[in-house]
Formats: sequence, structure tokens, C-alpha cells
Amino acid sequence: MVVGWIAVPIPKYGQYLVCPKCRSQVSADSKYCNYCGEMLRPQLILKICSRCQNRIISAAHYCPECGQKQ
Ligand SMILES: [Zn+2]
Ligand SMILES: [Zn+2]
Repeated sequence: MVVGWIAVPIPKYGQYLVCPKCRSQVSADSKYCNYCGEMLRPQLILKICSRCQNRIISAAHYCPECGQKQ
């Protein structure tokens, strides 16, 4: 199973992604890894919480911000 990109929220610095290939941290807005060129897969990364509009990983069952069931 291929591990996709993981969105990691950082309160003070916004959000970055961890590349599944080289483990580099790149901007959440990036389409490709800055370091190894691995393609970003948006469908694995984010969805929007229906309650607080927080961006959370699509596999999440609950919003980490407000606890809303997804
Ligand atoms: Zn990479
Ligand atoms: Zn929420």
C-alpha cells in the first residue's frame, strides 16, 4: 500500500506536507515535492470540516479542531 501525503497542521506556521518518499517538509500548496519531485495527491490530503472549515486529512473520522464527526 502506498502511503500518501500527510498534512500536518502547525499552529504558528500554517500547514506543511511530509513527502512520503524523502520525508521532506514542503508547503501545503505545493503540487510536487521540492526535493525529490514526488507528485502531491490532493485527494489523500484534505477535506474541509463541515462545522469549523478546518482542513483535515480525508481519512480522518473526526475533526481534530472541533470534534465534528466526518
Ligand atoms: Zn520528496
Ligand atoms: Zn471542525
